[in-house]
Amino acid sequence: MSSSAVPSATGTLYVVATPIGNLDDISARALRTLSEVALIAAEDTRHSLRLLQHFGIATPLAACHEHNERDQGGRFLARLQAGEDVALISDAGTPLISDPGFHLVRAARAAGVRVVPVPGACALVAALSAAGLPSDRFAFEGFLPAKTVGRRARLEQVREDVRTLIYYEAPHRILDCLADMRDVFGSERMAVLGRELTKTFETLRGLPLAELHGWVASDSNQQRGECVILVAGWQAPEGEDAVSGEALRVLDLLLAELPLKRASALAAEITGVRKNLLYQAALDRQKDA
Ligand code: SAM
Repeated sequence: MSSSAVPSATGTLYVVATPIGNLDDISARALRTLSEVALIAAEDTRHSLRLLQHFGIATPLAACHEHNERDQGGRFLARLQAGEDVALISDAGTPLISDPGFHLVRAARAAGVRVVPVPGACALVAALSAAGLPSDRFAFEGFLPAKTVGRRARLEQVREDVRTLIYYEAPHRILDCLADMRDVFGSERMAVLGRELTKTFETLRGLPLAELHGWVASDSNQQRGECVILVAGWQAPEGEDAVSGEALRVLDLLLAELPLKRASALAAEITGVRKNLLYQAALDRQKDA
């Protein structure tokens, strides 16, 4: 392989990022690696064949997807242990990032095989780099559950996380997902939708969640293609009139079972927050619903 590689008896597993849309985003090192390895382990061989043909690379491909990764991992390991170099790629972007590869990488490292990243495109990093939300601390939350109950439960877990939150989402769920985010994080929480990044219809739109939901609802074009949703981290409320997230959580639970007045009175007793503040918060939540 490349001159920088340390000679060893076993081969090297290269984890190679491929483009997320724009083919020009492939790196010179990725092209060289894919040309020089003995075998490319690919999530979808037919999909990757088109990419390789585009770049005139004729390296053999073998399937390594979520259904066969554990069983077939041994096959790739055997090749590596026989001294051959293998590259791992996924359909788009960086392998292992909401894509297969974790089991193979773990098994290779456990077997003492050298694993080398060949970095490149990754949708979450591309979105974060251009979203204008704080990037010093962020949490990648991957895909949310498909159904609203599970999705809301996952959102609740990070409602008061101060880091920028990053989600992958399928286009047919984008509206429901934004509606749940608006309800759990609040209408005013800032969010950015990154859609079709690096492609012709690339969009990066930042708005408070209620407005972002309204904008996507009113334009069916925004409900197509691939998307990343970034949500600004939680900011502690300021001043004595602030209602904490925990008090709102108690209020929401009670509102689901009781009339507004009774729910806010009980929430005030439980949390120690003034009754009129919780009553107003309950009114606001009903208005947003
Ligand atoms: N491994 C990939 C990466 O490094 O980003 C992610 C693979 S995951 C199966 C696919 C999801 O990534 C899509 O559903 C979408 O949420 C996001 N994604 C991939 N390409 C994208 C793009 N060009 N623009 C926006 N989001 C994208």
